Amino acid sequence: MAATRTLHPETMVIHGGHVAADEHGALVAPLYQSSTFVFPDAETGGRRFAGEEAGYMYSRLGNPTVNALEQRVAALENMPAAAATATGMGAVSAATMAFLRAGDHVIASDCVYGCSFALFSHLFERFGVSVSFVDMTDAATLEAAFQENTRVVFLETPANPHLKLIDLGMVGEVCKRHENVKMIVDNTFMTPLLQQPVAYGADLVLHSATKYLNGHGDVVAGVIAGSEEDIQLIKMTTLKDMGATISPHDAWLITRGLKTLAIRMERHCSNADKVAEFLARHPSIAHIYYPGFKQHPQHRLVGTQMKHAGAIIAFELHTGYAAAVDFLNRLQMIKVAVSLGDAETLIQHPASMTHSPLSPEARAKAGITDGLVRISVGLEHVDDIINDLSQSLAQN
Ligand SMILES: *Cc1c(COP(=O)(O)O)cnc(C)c1O
Repeated sequence: MAATRTLHPETMVIHGGHVAADEHGALVAPLYQSSTFVFPDAETGGRRFAGEEAGYMYSRLGNPTVNALEQRVAALENMPAAAATATGMGAVSAATMAFLRAGDHVIASDCVYGCSFALFSHLFERFGVSVSFVDMTDAATLEAAFQENTRVVFLETPANPHLKLIDLGMVGEVCKRHENVKMIVDNTFMTPLLQQPVAYGADLVLHSATKYLNGHGDVVAGVIAGSEEDIQLIKMTTLKDMGATISPHDAWLITRGLKTLAIRMERHCSNADKVAEFLARHPSIAHIYYPGFKQHPQHRLVGTQMKHAGAIIAFELHTGYAAAVDFLNRLQMIKVAVSLGDAETLIQHPASMTHSPLSPEARAKAGITDGLVRISVGLEHVDDIINDLSQSLAQN
């Protein structure tokens, strides 16, 4: 592990982390599609279960293919260990609940992924964990939200759907003033190549690996990076007992997808810059949300905590709900779909899709207007993306 830290991230996506050599010399680590592992003798099985000897026992507790992915993501996030999970939400639930019990309190950013919001606001409440959703762009607001029983601070930056940014260094500083608090960052939109929350004091960094880490739209998965101690606790409690275990096949696919993460992110980002410029100049567009633009309220964080603004853009059409739906329907190449970070450019309409469970009043409060559209800029030739947007906007 230590040696891989000296490699560049572009190299680590291919070589990072310790992956045991294959006995046959296979270039690509084999896929261990096995539910269980045979003990050479009963005593060995006993020692492994007692934690006295390393070795695999059963794939819900660990699997060599899954471990290879975990090692690589840990190296990329510059953290000692990682745990892969069946979905991004498996990562959010396992990472938070490992540190919570009835009576505890969580501070979450007021703009987190919809299912994280649902988990915290509905399920946690049923188990006696209270949650304060706060505007984490303001240090005083964050500080004021702390209670004696606060155990977890959870945030996401950039966040859906307006690409709001949170200053990780500021949150890290505030968290440091409090004892027994885990700072957990959902780094899905950025990937470890564009943002490394550990540098700002994050205790745990998680991803929906469904998105950029895998990058090919064929897997749902998650991963959590952290200290050996925290990851071991997660693996031996919430992950083992609630069972959001990733399949070895999915882990193998993500390890394969990761190899091109660096070159994919370069193309995603350069395409996004050009698409954002096109949209910003277009007369049908009332407002654009893109951290790369100077008018973005937290633009100062681009080039500092973030290497680039990323490749997710939101924009508002002058026209309303029906016109936004028509605009999506006229697209010829760009796919109408939720999710993000795939090779394909994906577009969605939050009011009718991701944020439709919210009441119209709640949507209005959250700034989800009827004309708001979110695009995940893909890897196609940028002219083809812009031409498709252009032909549909022209009919708006
Ligand atoms: C998609 C997503 C999740 C949830 O991940 P799944 O893989 O869909 O379970 C969590 N956080 C963010 C920011 C996401 O985009």
